[in-house]
Amino acid sequence: MLRKPVARIDVDALKHNLTRVRQEAAGSKVLAVLKANAYGHGMLQVAEQLQQADAFGVARLDEALALRAGGIVKPIVLLEGFFDADELPQIVASNLQVVVHQQEQVDAIVAAELDAPIRIWLKMDTGMHRLGLPPEQYQAAWQALSQSPNALPGIRLMSHFACADDLQCPDTLEQMQRFAQWSHGLGGDISLANSAGLLGWPQSHGDWVRPGLMLYGVSPLLGKAGADHGLQPVMTLCSRVIAIRDVAAGETVGYGSAWQAQQSTRLAVVAIGYGDGYPRMVPNGTPVLLHGQRFPIVGRVSMDMLTIDIGQQAVKPGDEVVLWGQGLPVEEIAALVGTIPYELLCNITPRVDFVYQGGN
Ligand SMILES: *Cc1c(COP(=O)(O)O)cnc(C)c1O
Repeated sequence: MLRKPVARIDVDALKHNLTRVRQEAAGSKVLAVLKANAYGHGMLQVAEQLQQADAFGVARLDEALALRAGGIVKPIVLLEGFFDADELPQIVASNLQVVVHQQEQVDAIVAAELDAPIRIWLKMDTGMHRLGLPPEQYQAAWQALSQSPNALPGIRLMSHFACADDLQCPDTLEQMQRFAQWSHGLGGDISLANSAGLLGWPQSHGDWVRPGLMLYGVSPLLGKAGADHGLQPVMTLCSRVIAIRDVAAGETVGYGSAWQAQQSTRLAVVAIGYGDGYPRMVPNGTPVLLHGQRFPIVGRVSMDMLTIDIGQQAVKPGDEVVLWGQGLPVEEIAALVGTIPYELLCNITPRVDFVYQGGN
């Protein structure tokens, strides 16, 4: 039995979550977002299991090329578009679609000589102020592209929300209004909603929804967990106990002696640490699951190990410990570290073994 961390990937949960997307956004097509190694879940494996999606989205050209090299034939959208006109022949050859979010990209497409026209998603900055054309320039960019033989007819119209995870925040409605106002009269499919838009703002669904996090069974909404939306966690991160030791009252554990036993107790050492992507900044008391029960992490997380206080529980080396996933939402761990679940999932390192289960 290997005593090292394993990320179990529940393929049935992944498919279930896509079904939930379809239920929530019944009239919309689904662009499943697979960037950053499918949020740490394994991009190619996830793509192979999401045959029911209508298209895939990635951030970068190398991600899209890796999917094509892996035999994925579904439409793939480059969510950041291209950065240099040099990339356009490759984009055409690999049959990729591009988000166009700035004037330089519009000009490059119009000026290019291409073997075939490209499917374009024209992005408006409605308030995120990251990528996107200013609303006042949107119609002119659309005109220029529509007249170019390099753009497939039926340019798609998109934007991205800044605060959709916060259901109290009025910005999302303002962004939708701005989008409607400045895209008025342009035909073409509309796409606004990420997972938070999809779950929190049904009026944003449009023709294409773009879920990422939700597919992995995790809630994007503040203070919620995936189960609140009928989602199932796809990744369960686990490892095993490698040592047990008794500590007396007053003894400390780990680097910096950051935790001290108030009474005599028993600790289990678990084979996972920040070198595997488990966050070093978890506070004392952060839960893990062992024998289906919660036990607290005590002392600092090291590179390869962490320690938990098991009290009177009968535990032996080799017993499995769950760090997050089934029974222990990653949303909860993220909140304890002051970050978002996206970051914890993406941070899993190649040192962790991936095991894909179910899906038959
Ligand atoms: C990453 C991304 C998404 C998916 O966001 P989630 O919050 O994970 O659902 C959607 N659209 C764009 C443009 C993105 O970059």
